[in-house]
Amino acid sequence: MDILHSTNSTTSLLQGQVGSNVVERLWADWYIYIGNDILATGLLFFLVHEIMYFGRCLPWFIIDQIPYFRKYKIQPDSIPTNQQQWECFKAVLKSHFLVEALPIWLFHPLCAQLNIVYGVPFPSWKIQACQIVFFFICEDLWHYTFHRLFHYGWFYKNIHKIHHKYAAPFGFAAEYAHPAEVAALGVGTVGFPILYAYTATKTNSLPPIHLFTITCWIVLRLFQAVDSHSGYDFPWSLNKFFPLWAGAEHHDQHHHYFIGNYASSFTFWDRFFSTECGQLAKQRREARANRKSEALYKKNM
Ligand SMILES: [Zn+2]
Ligand SMILES: [Zn+2]
Repeated sequence: MDILHSTNSTTSLLQGQVGSNVVERLWADWYIYIGNDILATGLLFFLVHEIMYFGRCLPWFIIDQIPYFRKYKIQPDSIPTNQQQWECFKAVLKSHFLVEALPIWLFHPLCAQLNIVYGVPFPSWKIQACQIVFFFICEDLWHYTFHRLFHYGWFYKNIHKIHHKYAAPFGFAAEYAHPAEVAALGVGTVGFPILYAYTATKTNSLPPIHLFTITCWIVLRLFQAVDSHSGYDFPWSLNKFFPLWAGAEHHDQHHHYFIGNYASSFTFWDRFFSTECGQLAKQRREARANRKSEALYKKNM
C-alpha cells in the first residue's frame, strides 16, 4: 500500500513499515510510539532543533579550546572566552523556549491543510535534493533582503544590534538575536516549504513535499547558520571547492566590518548587488575598476 499521501492516520504509517529502510522505519515508529501526530511533529521539530543546533555548536566550542586550530581562525586575536560562550548559550536556549514554544505546535495542523505528507515511504532522494536546493536559493535571497534591511537606522538600533554583539562570531552566536529578527529570518527557512506545499496543492504540477524533507532542510540550514558563525576557515571547507558557497569567512567579515556580505548561504547576491566586504572583495572591486578604465582608455585611443 502506498501511504505517501496519507496525512491523518498513524495506522497507515505502521503498514508502510513493510519493506521500508531504517530511516523510514524509525520515522514511522516515532509517530506510532507518540500516538498523537500533532505532538509527534511538534516534539520532533523541537528536539531536532535543540540536538542539531547545540550538537553542531559543540565541536566549535571544543576547537576554540585547542590552540592548534588558531591558524585556521579568521580573526585569530579574538578567541571567545568560556564566559561569553556560556552567556550566549543561555540566551539562545531561553529564546528557543520563548520564541518557538508556540508556533512549533501549529506546524502539524498546517501540514494537514497543505497536504504536506508524512507517511512512508519517503519520496526519492532526487526529488528531496531538488526541493532542498530550491529552498537554499530562496532562503538566501530572503535572508539577503531582510538582513540588509536590518542594517538600516531604526532596524539596526532596535533589532539587529543584538546579533552584532560579537564582532568575532562563534557557533553559539548563530541564533543570538532579537526575537523579531529570529521570526523574520525564520520565515525564510519555514515559509518557502509552506509556499511550495501551497503551490503544489493548488496547481497539482509539483511533486508533494514530505515532512521528512522539510526536517532535513531545517537541519542543513541550522548547520549552515552555525558553521558560518564558527569563526574558522579550513583548507577543506566547502567554499574552497565550491566558490559560490559563502562559508564562514563571508559571514565572519560581516561581523568584523558591520557592513556588507548580507547573504546567508551563497556569495552571488552580494556580488550582484556590489555589497561584498573584506579584503578579497576590495581586490575584486579594484580589479574590476582597473579593467573598466583600461577598456575605456583603449576605446578612446
Ligand atoms: Zn548583520
Ligand atoms: Zn551573524
